[in-house]
Amino acid sequence: MLIDSFNREVNYLRVSVTERCNFRCRYCMAEKPFSWVPKENLLSYEELFSFIKISIDSGIRKIRITGGEPTTRENLDELIAMIHTYAPEVDIGLTTNGFLLPAMAQKLKRAGLKRVNISLDSLEKETLHYIAQKDVLESVLKGIDAAIDAGLSVKINSVILRGINDHEIGSLFEYAQNIGAQIRYIEYMENIHASDGIKGLASFEILSELSKTHSFSRIVNEKSGPANLYETSKGYRFGTIEPHRHDFCATCDRLRLSAEGDLIGCLYFEGAKNIKEAIRNGDTQEAYKMLAEVVDNKPEKNLWGIENVEISSRAFYRTGG
Ligand code: SAM
Ligand code: SF4
Repeated sequence: MLIDSFNREVNYLRVSVTERCNFRCRYCMAEKPFSWVPKENLLSYEELFSFIKISIDSGIRKIRITGGEPTTRENLDELIAMIHTYAPEVDIGLTTNGFLLPAMAQKLKRAGLKRVNISLDSLEKETLHYIAQKDVLESVLKGIDAAIDAGLSVKINSVILRGINDHEIGSLFEYAQNIGAQIRYIEYMENIHASDGIKGLASFEILSELSKTHSFSRIVNEKSGPANLYETSKGYRFGTIEPHRHDFCATCDRLRLSAEGDLIGCLYFEGAKNIKEAIRNGDTQEAYKMLAEVVDNKPEKNLWGIENVEISSRAFYRTGG
């Protein structure tokens, strides 16, 4: 079991398989990076799997594949199958923009994928085009349908931006409810890779908007990952992810592994240990030592504050969000 110095059990590993993406969301990768990480610097699936095995043996029970856009890396089902075969009890999820899911959902499910979080920030063709800087609505909606048809458990992630999609809080809610998927509104996290002028809504503003049309109450003592959960009078559950809250980090159970092998204890802070050399040298003891050190050094909390907003230089498309 992995326990950090604030007595939090760490049992969740987010694995980024690529920093590349087929979208250019204004709040994440507004512009193509000056250069991509060269291919030889990326961990192969075998190398990622070597580290994943060490982490599973140490107590990791949930793995989420992310990116960049993870479905743009070839043969993603192979990595999922490796993990699932090694440890069928481990809960494997994927976070994706959904664009390539129509052709992949069945294959991923057969490989052992259980759940998929699909980002959907707008139901309006033009608005989503504006946010993702690409005309994607039709493909993303088909991707969501394909995931449901494949039998995957689906959640919808939406980032609500002031003056851009804040008129769609209700329609995104209705859409998610109609397809039987939980929607989670993620507060925009300020970062230097976003377009200038992007501002997010705080979750109290989102909840206040929803309360005009729905009655709901907070489910206390129950969390779904980092989300705060709510239930409507009709029994539909939805969530908010609020990194700006002071207690957000109190139950943090996760580590992140970038596609280049950086093992990261907290999304907010710079500072990571790179496990690539140890894995490439077959030095599992050294890789385990690094894992233990990163767990030990997990900071108590991030510094995203509502009043005095701090801006992170970390790229979400590198760390996997
Ligand atoms: N490309 C995939 C996707 O969009 O779902 C996976 C990677 S993306 C970095 C993972 C999640 O992070 C997405 O739900 C995305 O909306 C969210 N995200 C990216 N940048 C963010 C930001 N600045 N603030 C809040 N959430 C962000
Ligand atoms: Fe790509 Fe996901 Fe970032 Fe959008 S949020 S640019 S889809 S990595």
